[in-house]
Amino acid sequence: MLNDQLYDVVVIGGGPAGMTAAWELREKKILLLEKQDRLGGRLHSIKMGDYWLNLGGHLFPQPGSHVRNMMSSLGLEVIEIPGNKFAIWFDGKVHSPKSAMLMPLILPLTLIERVSFVRIGLRLMTSVKGWRKVLLPVANETPMRRRERVARFMSDFSFRDFLGRPAGRIDNLFSTALRRAAVDVEDQTAGVGVSLFGTVWGGKGSTALNLKGGSGRLGEEVAKALGERVILGTTVTDVIDEGGQVIVDYERNGQRETVRARQVIVTTPAFVTRQIVKSLPADVDKTLQGVQYGPFVSMGIITDEVSPMPFDDIYAVTTPGASFDMLFNHANPLRVKDGKRNPGGSLMVYRGGRGAGELLKLSEQEIQERFLADLLKIYPMLAGHITETRIAKWTPGNACRAVNFNFDPILEYCCRADIKIDLAGDYFAEIGNMEIAAASAHDSVMRVRERLRSS
Ligand SMILES: Cc1cc2nc3c(=O)[nH]c(=O)nc-3n(C[C@H](O)[C@H](O)[C@H](O)COP(=O)(O)OP(=O)(O)OC[C@H]3O[C@@H](n4cnc5c(N)ncnc54)[C@H](O)[C@@H]3O)c2cc1C
Repeated sequence: MLNDQLYDVVVIGGGPAGMTAAWELREKKILLLEKQDRLGGRLHSIKMGDYWLNLGGHLFPQPGSHVRNMMSSLGLEVIEIPGNKFAIWFDGKVHSPKSAMLMPLILPLTLIERVSFVRIGLRLMTSVKGWRKVLLPVANETPMRRRERVARFMSDFSFRDFLGRPAGRIDNLFSTALRRAAVDVEDQTAGVGVSLFGTVWGGKGSTALNLKGGSGRLGEEVAKALGERVILGTTVTDVIDEGGQVIVDYERNGQRETVRARQVIVTTPAFVTRQIVKSLPADVDKTLQGVQYGPFVSMGIITDEVSPMPFDDIYAVTTPGASFDMLFNHANPLRVKDGKRNPGGSLMVYRGGRGAGELLKLSEQEIQERFLADLLKIYPMLAGHITETRIAKWTPGNACRAVNFNFDPILEYCCRADIKIDLAGDYFAEIGNMEIAAASAHDSVMRVRERLRSS
């Protein structure tokens, strides 16, 4: 079926990149096509009474970011996460130092492990300083070029090469923490690992933030505000530049449909993009093929305890040795300081990298059993208080650059004045997150506006 309207811009994919593109172009004649029955992509939460069950992205960027600008114009508020972000389950106990720097001092380690930990910690601190220098803006550099320069930082060797073979349990401790990238230390650049420590463990002055009500609200509000300009449950199969205009074919409710546009922004994961966009230049196609995504398996957990829990003041626990890598207390930002603690709670656990790849082969029930068994080892007091769980198998989980990856062909392609199919997504940096996705979409919007003006 042919929709005989000609759109200024069709946006494909409704994650943070697609939502940003459609939102910024909302004064134009636009259409946003999304495969799922919701917007948000890898940001996903479900409201559960006072709490929300979280399955995907949850840490939101600071004011002034593209995501926050979109949220402000939609009237969405962030909520500060006061709890400890450096807790670690180690030797059968949860330790929650005030700073990551104190970890080598407070953990029950052998002398060799402690020395090994301190040595790596010092090298990391030096490298994080180097990374912060690289982050400083350079005159006349576009944001896209700046991201690319930052992505080249320590990109020619792996984080495993950086780490070497730490003593005893220290190896597993770092490997577990670094699977935040959704890939193991062997599969990420040293720069990715250093930047993760720089932002998550070593960040000074920046407050951790979530979206009040859960990250899923962003997609809900964008869908509401854009109304009929969003079509959900729509799988785009072909995007073809036919010279004068772009033809977009999609399937919806078993029907094949077609729309036409002057410009298209494709924000699907790189491997989908190369399948659906026909006739991409060979070097762009090859580069998209090389974009690496690691998997995540996450489980959201709703609990019904009525009295305080030992994790009430904790937001994140790294869990080396468990079937999951991290445990998050999503109810932490809602805990009040005046002594009144609302009943119930919301937790989330996830596993990334090769271990997640193994979990993906299991049924949801088997994953749930493994995750719950380990959760109860860490916090036995939760026995009998778990009322609901939900598993999410994320493939892709996160975009993360492999060693020596060259992204230039995509940057050169996107900057061309003559193209009608532009690209965006979280793979436009060394490691993906919602702000990278949104920023790449903002860049794309600027280029598309320019092409619309001059066509
Ligand atoms: C468990 C987990 C935790 C995370 N934690 C954080 C965090 O705390 N903070 C953070 O900033 N980031 C986090 N991230 C990463 C963040 O969610 C992603 O970087 C971000 O969602 C990428 O946005 P995107 O728009 O590029 O891609 P996506 O979010 O993947 O959106 C792409 C969209 O395209 C749609 N699509 C795919 N194929 C088609 C097709 N053929 N036709 C139409 N539509 C299609 C998909 O359904 C999807 O909605 C996390 C991710 C996961 C999985």
